[in-house]
Amino acid sequence: MANELTPMMQQYLDFKNQYRDELLFYRSGDFYELFFEDAKTASRELGLTLTGRNGGLEERIPMCGVPYHSVEPYIAKLIKKGFRVAICEQMEDPKLAKGLVKREVIRVITPGTALNEALLEESGNRYLVYLQEDDGVLCMALADVSTGECRWYTANGSERLISVEEQLFRLQPSEIVLKSGIDQWDALENWLKSKLTDCLYSFYEAAKEPEDYVKLHFGPLELDPLVRSTVQNLLAYLHETMMTDLSQINRLERITTEQFMNLDATAIRNLELIKNMRDGGKRGTLLDILDFTGTSMGSRCLKNWIECPLLDIVKIRERQDAVEELVLNPSLRASLQESLKEVFDLERILSRLEVGSANARDLVSLRASLAALPALKEKLQGAKSGLLQKLSASIHMHREIHDTLEAAIVDEPPFTVREGGMIKDGYDLELDELHDIARNNSQWMANFEQKIKESTGIKTLKVGFNKVFGYYIEVSKGQTSAVPPEFVRKQTLVNAERYIVPELKDFENKILSAKEKIESLEYYLFNKIRDEIRKDIPEIQDTAHALARLDVLAALAMAAFKYDYHRPELNNRGEIRILDGRHPVVERLLDKEIFVPNNVTLNSADERMVIITGPNMAGKSTYMRQVALLVLMTQMGSFIPARSADICAVDRIFTRVGASDDLATGQSTFMVEMNEVAQILKYATKNSLIILDEVGRGTSTYDGMSIARAVMEYIQTKIKAKTLFATHYHELITMEDVLEGIKNYSVAIKERGNDIVFLRRIIRGGTDRSYGVHVARLAGLPKKVIERADEILEEYDRNKGFICDGTAACNSDGVAQGSVKEEPADLGMGSLFTSALQSELLQLDVMSMTPIEALNELYKLQQEA
Ligand code: ADP
Repeated sequence: MANELTPMMQQYLDFKNQYRDELLFYRSGDFYELFFEDAKTASRELGLTLTGRNGGLEERIPMCGVPYHSVEPYIAKLIKKGFRVAICEQMEDPKLAKGLVKREVIRVITPGTALNEALLEESGNRYLVYLQEDDGVLCMALADVSTGECRWYTANGSERLISVEEQLFRLQPSEIVLKSGIDQWDALENWLKSKLTDCLYSFYEAAKEPEDYVKLHFGPLELDPLVRSTVQNLLAYLHETMMTDLSQINRLERITTEQFMNLDATAIRNLELIKNMRDGGKRGTLLDILDFTGTSMGSRCLKNWIECPLLDIVKIRERQDAVEELVLNPSLRASLQESLKEVFDLERILSRLEVGSANARDLVSLRASLAALPALKEKLQGAKSGLLQKLSASIHMHREIHDTLEAAIVDEPPFTVREGGMIKDGYDLELDELHDIARNNSQWMANFEQKIKESTGIKTLKVGFNKVFGYYIEVSKGQTSAVPPEFVRKQTLVNAERYIVPELKDFENKILSAKEKIESLEYYLFNKIRDEIRKDIPEIQDTAHALARLDVLAALAMAAFKYDYHRPELNNRGEIRILDGRHPVVERLLDKEIFVPNNVTLNSADERMVIITGPNMAGKSTYMRQVALLVLMTQMGSFIPARSADICAVDRIFTRVGASDDLATGQSTFMVEMNEVAQILKYATKNSLIILDEVGRGTSTYDGMSIARAVMEYIQTKIKAKTLFATHYHELITMEDVLEGIKNYSVAIKERGNDIVFLRRIIRGGTDRSYGVHVARLAGLPKKVIERADEILEEYDRNKGFICDGTAACNSDGVAQGSVKEEPADLGMGSLFTSALQSELLQLDVMSMTPIEALNELYKLQQEA
């Protein structure tokens, strides 16, 4: 009875027991095989045929496999689906192995440690985050193994979760590892899972006395014990999965919030900085508009600059100076961009070199990138701005590496590194000799053919080669009688016979062994070159970093040049003044209309809060986002779409933008809205910029209006942040008279008979008209419905006590001026509620009262009020 596993299956199970959470890819000859449950899972997820094999058990063992040379896309697919994969390799040549082939698990691949090309988005990072908490302090450490980035962040106090969440939202990690053994983690894990859905979660803690990875990677560092332990755990996890020395990770940085504007998840989303709200894509985002970068490194860096605008005016000006120089010198900019186009994704190439997944094509890309450097540096020679000079100094030439690659690697090497064809002639003597043997075979074959033609007298015989039978002598059927007896028959074809003779066999052996030797010698040389480069990784990373920044500066200059952006001034007076500003994205997306520029003034005194009224679709949101975007662009060092501007750096930009009506409705929308408002009121300071669009919309009118007003009062009196507030509650415009620092603006409208035209101009003064019915008409609602709506509206207006004769807020040519005619004069919110007091008053029968009764009643009402 068969119940004992074969040695190979036993070996497989030994590995599988160590890697239970992973799908184990077990190398066997030209395939990676999966067995048992792994095979079932993989065949289901990858659409592979599930077969079986005899492994010594009674039943056949489920099995499926993928060819080793095309394994990458399969792994990518599994990683995307949230699986972990362990690669078990053959550690010796099966042909030479005595008994069972020695195997080892050489790496574990997880979403946060994958270097697979198919998974890495060129312009995005792939972060692995490790999280732990101690004594009320939450610490996270993160790394992107594809670029070598490694950073940490801590947060304490009751807000620590929120501040870590903000960081995580910005980073969008692919994998989060939580320290094992902490009870309350369950809740944290669930909470994180609800926030970041495309992310793999697991638990891990480094062994008690592991290697000091922090020291190994970063040298002697003074670190807080919690930070040290978090980074140590992160690195230990990476080492255990990647199983290489990871020398690309050689710099540890702290994520600081003091240096950068703190943009929260809501603002990044609402302002559509990186992803649009429609489909989550890049189109129609600020990143999309500004991305004139030529390299993937530059594109990633630009994304980072957008998400982390600077606070320090000196640093902002440093970037502005560099952008300005490149704007004023378009030929320098163009020629730098030309050179940058030749630079490949160095950061990722270095990481692949580091973990051993690089191939000779990567070395060709590295060589081409290094070849572009001298010209780039030369072009930067005359640069005047400090930042360009600094970047120029950080670009090293790496000549030795370049020369080695130039001498060693052919221009178009194959994809694999095991099959030769990578190394140039003349680089290695031994290799050249082997090539001679392999290449001279055609000459040898021609000579041999000639020789046996003569000796046998068969003129039509041919010497050839095929992959299955090797070398042969082919004789056509009609001539076989002349074949000498020492010819051994090998293969019979329809019209010919093929033979072999000892001399030809010897030759074949020599050739084949030369080929094998070439393959292993080339692989050895490739690794030697790779090791040489690895020594210089930190220096090449410096160069890569400088190139990325240069690329972004050139891109910003290009955008400024192409789209007519101007350099904003910066001030410390808490003032934002923009003349003829435009929305950078909307102005690019309009095809028929021309974008109408607008001004803005915000300061810390008499114009802190701007209330913007106007009908739907008039351009209120566009205007407010435009202000936020221009401030943000200024702080990232970019020029902006405005004729001129003077801007103070803000510490945060908060956005509360009306949930798109098609997204969600009712209670939940309102809750989301109130949550966002709560966050703003909690964290905004007098140096923040707040954008509130339609606060209170998700509830009934009076509720909504009361909340909106209370929120405005709080911001105005307590926080004193610069605020733009769009509302369709035109009753709120009375606040201008009540509180200092508030100014009313509205979007100009032109009425033409029953129609309205949006002028897109933001003008001083509020408006009391919502023009909802007009907008409905524009949208094509049936005429009958529109007429009925007009009737109802008139009715309402009469009952409310408004005088609304259709020209209330318009001057002679119909342009809204914002002046409001009201009756009674004060239309504070109180008057909109039918209060208990009012109804009591109305119920009194005044005519039948004596004067003293009336006086008493009046007294009573006064007491109640
Ligand atoms: P609101 O917030 O008042 O409902 P939006 O800001 O959403 O209006 O603007 C509606 C549309 O008007 C935008 O999608 C845009 O196409 C156009 N628009 C807005 N502002 C301008 C402008 N300044 N110039 C030209 N078109 C504009």
